[in-house]
Amino acid sequence: MPHGRYPGVVAREVVRSEISWFRALTGLARRHGCEFHGDLERLNEWPEQLDELVEVVCRSWSDDMKIRAQATRNPLYPLRNLEIRPANLLLDEESPLWIRRWILRLRGALLALNDGIYSRSDAPGRLCSLCNLNENEDVVHFFGTCPVLREFRLRYLGSIVLDREQMVYLLDNRQEWLAVGQFAFHAWRYREFLVKEFNWFKWRPKHTKDTTRAIY
Ligand SMILES: [Zn+2]
Repeated sequence: MPHGRYPGVVAREVVRSEISWFRALTGLARRHGCEFHGDLERLNEWPEQLDELVEVVCRSWSDDMKIRAQATRNPLYPLRNLEIRPANLLLDEESPLWIRRWILRLRGALLALNDGIYSRSDAPGRLCSLCNLNENEDVVHFFGTCPVLREFRLRYLGSIVLDREQMVYLLDNRQEWLAVGQFAFHAWRYREFLVKEFNWFKWRPKHTKDTTRAIY
């Protein structure tokens, strides 16, 4: 860029005044232990220093996200291979998008179940709406153990119950994702139907008896 161009003049002034994006960059470099001198006389050294800074920040962000993920209420996170990225649309994927959407929901425990990862651990009403096992309806219950959904498990995954090891295997192996997606799609639709048809207790008069958990 010619020396007198307006963007160049503004950029040099930002550096000289140590404000705005320049202050953010130097702060980022300091926090991550990277070298960024910000010297306008050595502008040719900036690309290398900034490339290294971007690499370190990306690595740090990824590690930070993994630590946060391990600390969520998703019971499958500590067991899973976190390097697998089912939602990366840039990869040459064989799985159709609708399958990957279900895989993502199961891997991240993002289904709107009664005991979702965004529920407080002491929130009321976290029990399964479908069965009478008296278990919280989290992703493990929906995917692996709820007896109301066992026919879908048997049809698509070959077993009426899945333990955590089996669930992790299915979610970590792409060749299983079609079957997992089919299970999730049909099981979710069935759950939706049952909740809509039978779980009307929220609107019933207070004096009536709660029979909503005894539908299986
Ligand atoms: Zn259940």
